Amino acid sequence: MSRRPLIAANWKLHKTVPEALAFLDDLLADLTGDEAAEVVIAPPFTALEAVGRRLDGTAVRLAAQNVYWEDQGAFTGEVSPLMLTQLGCRYVIVGHSERRQFFGETDETVRRRLAAASRHELTPILCVGETKDDREAGRTDDVLTSQVSRALEGLYPDQLQELVVAYEPVWAIGTGLTATVDQAQEAQAHLRLLLARITDKSLANQTRILYGGSVKPENINALMTMPDVDGALVGGASLSADSFVGIIQF
Ligand code: PEP
Repeated sequence: MSRRPLIAANWKLHKTVPEALAFLDDLLADLTGDEAAEVVIAPPFTALEAVGRRLDGTAVRLAAQNVYWEDQGAFTGEVSPLMLTQLGCRYVIVGHSERRQFFGETDETVRRRLAAASRHELTPILCVGETKDDREAGRTDDVLTSQVSRALEGLYPDQLQELVVAYEPVWAIGTGLTATVDQAQEAQAHLRLLLARITDKSLANQTRILYGGSVKPENINALMTMPDVDGALVGGASLSADSFVGIIQF
């Protein structure tokens, strides 16, 4: 089963609309349009519309960094799946460790967001990963098993056809520390086996599993040689067009 590599930018709380558009001018000038990898950009909510318009007609896809699980209602400050698809979003990041750490995200809220995204044909990029303490205590596989099984609870394989999973060891995010290629491969092979167990084998084989955690142009090539690494979710190095292009064109 060949899986098309996916390289996704997570801009987090960075870039105003003019800054986002200036980035896109540089990025689109550097891309040939027939890159092997699918390219996705997740700007902050405030830049989704402008970025979406600029990406219209290009091969670069739009993503949101989060989504609420209701379509509408008295939920001040939230953004619904419908609002995102209407702006042209194809993907949404769900369960990023910063949301789990700083904004009270739990396995249950991750499950609800994921289910809502699937209902609206918004492809979820489900983020999972262990902390430094988990790894040192030998709990990495258990943590990944629990995060993934709880996120997918109640969903059928036909609702998960497009699912993307991002393995993001918390200790590697924004720290400059990258998992070794063997650590990434081991965790991601575990995730694929797990997906086969809780969904089915063909779905597990087609699911793209990204690595995230201090990915840079200097380490992407080695990561992409691993059989279960199908791309990357990139934070810091996606903020400059130069380094993001260096990753896309691994
Ligand atoms: C991320 O936030 O998803 C991430 C991987 O960040 P960074 O690349 O900066 O470690």
